[in-house]
Amino acid sequence: MKKELPGRVEIIAVGSELLTPYFQDTNSLYLSSRLNDLGWTVAFKTIVGDDREDLRLRLREALRRTRLVMVMGGLGPTGDDITREAVAGALGRDLVLQRDVLERIEDRFRRRQLPMPRANKKQALIIRGAAVLPNRNGTAPGQLIRVGGKKIVLLPGPPHELKPMCEESVWPALGEEQCGHLTRAVLRATGLTESMVEALISDLYPKTTDLGLTILASPGQIEFQLCAFSAVSRVLAENKLRRLKSRLIRRLRNHVFSETGESLEEIVGLLLKKQKKTLAVAESCSGGLISHRLTNVPGSSEYFLEGAIAYSNAAKIDLLAVPPDLIETHGAVSFPVARAMASGIRRRARADLGLAVTGIAGPTGGSPDKPVGLVFTALAWPGGTEVQKNLFLGKREQVKLQSTQKALDMVRRHLLQKARAKKRRTR
Ligand code: AMP
Ligand code: MG
Repeated sequence: MKKELPGRVEIIAVGSELLTPYFQDTNSLYLSSRLNDLGWTVAFKTIVGDDREDLRLRLREALRRTRLVMVMGGLGPTGDDITREAVAGALGRDLVLQRDVLERIEDRFRRRQLPMPRANKKQALIIRGAAVLPNRNGTAPGQLIRVGGKKIVLLPGPPHELKPMCEESVWPALGEEQCGHLTRAVLRATGLTESMVEALISDLYPKTTDLGLTILASPGQIEFQLCAFSAVSRVLAENKLRRLKSRLIRRLRNHVFSETGESLEEIVGLLLKKQKKTLAVAESCSGGLISHRLTNVPGSSEYFLEGAIAYSNAAKIDLLAVPPDLIETHGAVSFPVARAMASGIRRRARADLGLAVTGIAGPTGGSPDKPVGLVFTALAWPGGTEVQKNLFLGKREQVKLQSTQKALDMVRRHLLQKARAKKRRTR
């Protein structure tokens, strides 16, 4: 089979402010997304300060390793805007004052009844041989330069100038020579550690350059980012993606909760809605985070009835009717108390399902037999209860997050099981 190589791009953001803790390069996110639509893949992102020599070096390097280089920022009129000069220098080309560009800049000032400052004149300097990309929203035009079989695009830094310029001039110019078709998908899974994932899928890592798989772990969740490329057609790219996706799902099975980008709370919401069930939540160490996540989903009032933060022992007794001697005998962080909390909130709210969390989030409060990270999650339903003992690692916030993830996943798995049982009965 012919090896299919997607077109590789380097994005270079120019601006010393982007190297401080106060500014972020956001333009490259927009550029990556639109470049992907056209079948390009971003191989490198670089940030360079306002330094002619540094930019010249990076540009030469970028031209060696990619087919397209997009440089943004540093096209302004002030002394620290060095992109034009640096790129001209790197290519060994002149800068030419282009009359029609200068007139457009002068006209912008005329319309505001202002004289054009001398500094703006340099924005009409165009690298010899470059195509001018008009700027509807500012003075600096962009430039498209062909160097051998490669291209360099210069873009202004302000997003409200860069985006319209790309939409109007850059994407159409690149689209004429669409370099292929790139499609993406996201799978999200829970209930697995990274090493479990590795054991399950290590042989599925793509071995050809037309497929990509990136695995991102966060507390209680693993995300699989898939991409597939075809030089020929979108349908072929989508078929490849689908094959990779179903292979992964076959291995990861019901640990996968979303195939289209939903959060766990959205999936739980969809299942509750579909099965016409209601939920109430009692939270101790998670401090309301489960209720917060559930109510972040629009329409959650259809299934979410009540959330109680029962932090103290008294609250567990008063709000959830947990028997005091249960706490006395086993402690607030225990199997039976978690179960009593889940049943208590279910009864109190007259909900179909009651969910509860009690644990030790740390950093203090742990003991040898009840260490920091010990969390009990419990679910109560009309016919029974389920309690799980978890030992989470990490800081306080991570323990809280993992607790919510585990608790929500218990609801998800319970509802899936109910749906499967119902299907079996009707068969
Ligand atoms: P410049 O073209 O370098 O004069 O940039 C002008 C302004 O555009 C900067 O002050 C930033 O606010 C914004 N800007 C420049 N580069 C970026 C970038 N990569 N991402 C987001 N904003 C940017
Ligand atoms: Mg700048």
